[in-house]
Amino acid sequence: MIKFGPAGNSDSFYAEGFKTTLDVPRWLSEKGLNAYEYQCTRGVRITQAFAEALKVQATRYNIALSIHAPYYINLAGTDPILLEKSKQHLVKSLSAAKWMGATRVVFHPGSASKMPRNEALLNAAKFLDNFFTDLDGDLLENCYLCPETMGKRNQLGNLEEVLELCKLHPKMKPAVDFGHLHALGGGCLNEEKDFEKILDKIERTLGTNTIKNLHIHFSPVEYTGAGERKHWSLKDKEFGPDFYPLAKVLKKNGLMPTVICESAGTQAEDAATFKAIYNSI
Ligand SMILES: [Zn+2]
Repeated sequence: MIKFGPAGNSDSFYAEGFKTTLDVPRWLSEKGLNAYEYQCTRGVRITQAFAEALKVQATRYNIALSIHAPYYINLAGTDPILLEKSKQHLVKSLSAAKWMGATRVVFHPGSASKMPRNEALLNAAKFLDNFFTDLDGDLLENCYLCPETMGKRNQLGNLEEVLELCKLHPKMKPAVDFGHLHALGGGCLNEEKDFEKILDKIERTLGTNTIKNLHIHFSPVEYTGAGERKHWSLKDKEFGPDFYPLAKVLKKNGLMPTVICESAGTQAEDAATFKAIYNSI
């Protein structure tokens, strides 16, 4: 079934007096949500005991878990020390995913600012080749590694690049951030056909199964000529993209993605709004 949930915790979760993420699954299920992206964006610091306790709660309240890996990952670099650090960030994220039963680890592929894009992409491909060769296969048993489509021009990870990376290994699936794609395209996602074009491209490259249960990020994004500037909330009406045309496309094609909302501060509330929009169609 289609799933909706937040990336990290809404301001309201803390305002209501909650302090521990172990309370999140029940809190989300009371809001009618069924997905949660655990944030390791500043480093993987979760203990095995805590992750296993979160798994118990998520199972009890039927919340599908994913993890956002650290922002510091850069597959395109050339410094061996930094590449080793990137590898460790990914391994730690996958370990945490295994402990908590998360089925996707989302990560930012890296920077494309210091070299030609095709060189950055080749470096990333080489990194992944080594990574999968060395990796304990156990960590991928129930989990996919998901490069995210990025919103800034100087980041590696436009749609084509993400799809190229995903072609390298069957355990790689795209994390499609429509806010980022909208920002990178200067506000390109407005009508159903704009979203369809993206889904068609993914399907043609990676197959029908990939779009059936796609991992989606969706939130209002402000952008400049350089791409993404800032994530906003649905309260900030001037920022797109609009979820309605995507919801129509998802419904029309019987697609069952996980839609993670990354709005600033109101991510759970906005995820619930996306669900209501979807259900209204
Ligand atoms: Zn991200």
